[in-house]
Amino acid sequence: MKSGEFTFTMIKPTAVRLGKLVPILHEIDHAGFTVIAMKMTRLSREQAERFYAIHKERPFFDELVCFMSSGPVVAIVLQKENAVLDFRKLIGNTNPQNAEEGTIRKKFAISVQENAVHGSDSDENALIEANFFFSQFEIFPLNEDFS
Ligand code: ATP
Ligand code: MG
Repeated sequence: MKSGEFTFTMIKPTAVRLGKLVPILHEIDHAGFTVIAMKMTRLSREQAERFYAIHKERPFFDELVCFMSSGPVVAIVLQKENAVLDFRKLIGNTNPQNAEEGTIRKKFAISVQENAVHGSDSDENALIEANFFFSQFEIFPLNEDFS
């Protein structure tokens, strides 16, 4: 998997519960991303704390961890050129009220916290986050031999 060509996303518990997985996947596909790894799972409190450890000093941390472990999520690795930035553009602002028209968060988020999807914020974090959920045998990048 080449750095810069993939990102990690997670469909958050509320979006899964409200049946938005397939509509969100449709948007992602339409924007030119290829799913190269995917699983539905439920995070324990400890796993959610680890995944969002960067926010542990923030006032909303406890609420965030509670929410992210409240039900199943869908973890996905996506391949595309310029994946990280293009995906952040596709999902829109963290707060759906400030998200641009047509973005995934504008369409599917219900609040700042329950904002439908996560998207990696750098190539470095995309790798860390993909490795958090998937082993090397569970990721299937497109390449010249298999595309
Ligand atoms: P993500 O990392 O999930 O892609 P983001 O990068 O747009 O989101 P971050 O600042 O990394 O935003 O915040 C991580 C997550 O914490 C947000 O997606 C949201 O679920 C939650 N969050 C952020 N700010 C707040 C807040 N003010 N109140 C409640 N929850 C918040
Ligand atoms: Mg973030």
